[in-house]
Parts: sequence; structure tokens; C-alpha cells
Amino acid sequence: MSTAHDGLPPLSEDDVYRLCGPTVYQRAQRYYRNGAVLRPRIEDAALLAEVQGSRRKPYQVSVTFAPDQIVSSCDCPYWAEHCKHVGALLLTWAHDHAIQRALASSCRAAAATGGPDRPSRGIAAA
Ligand SMILES: [Zn+2]
Repeated sequence: MSTAHDGLPPLSEDDVYRLCGPTVYQRAQRYYRNGAVLRPRIEDAALLAEVQGSRRKPYQVSVTFAPDQIVSSCDCPYWAEHCKHVGALLLTWAHDHAIQRALASSCRAAAATGGPDRPSRGIAAA
């Protein structure tokens, strides 16, 4: 039995604000709106993406959802805990439920090798 997001919890914009603080949050919003978050995906229960920053090569960003905390990493020189690149990825996750569904289902499909993809709309199996 798999849950909706295979252990990756939904996140609200408020959550991202609390996690990142006002300054990083504002910058993250700009990155998110500019489409700087490239190829968001799930691997091994971590949320991964490349985020296009000021440098030509995009930064590698990953976010892991532990039970009580969100652990992030980014290869930019400013990364301390949650930098703006991490924030932009979190905003992508928070905003885009289509991405959440696509990621969750691709994650499920990868986990359940061989099985046909069952529709997941009905909560109660009649
Ligand atoms: Zn960064």
C-alpha cells in the first residue's frame, strides 16, 4: 500500500516561508516564477532538481523530508541551511500539485516494477 506521495509530505507556501525566512523566501519566489527550477524529480525519497542561478551551470539541489525536519543541500557557495535555490525547489513542490502528482506517480511506477498503473482516485476500494 503506498500513500499519495510515497512519504513526501505536501508543503504549503507558509511552510516554505517559515523554513527559509523572509529574505530567502522572496528570492526563492523570484527563482520559482522565472522558471529557474529545472527537472524536479524524486529519487530515493529525496526531492531533487537543478536550479539555474547566476552561474552558467545550474546548482544541484536536494531536499530530504525527515519526520521532524527538512534537510536540504545545494552546491552553491551560499548554502547554509536553506538557500534561495532550495527555497525555489520547495516552492515548486508547494505550488504545483500537478508536479506533486506526476512525481508521486513516477515514483510509484518506478517502485512497483511490472505492475499495471492502477487509478488512484478512489480512496475506498469498493
Ligand atoms: Zn543554493
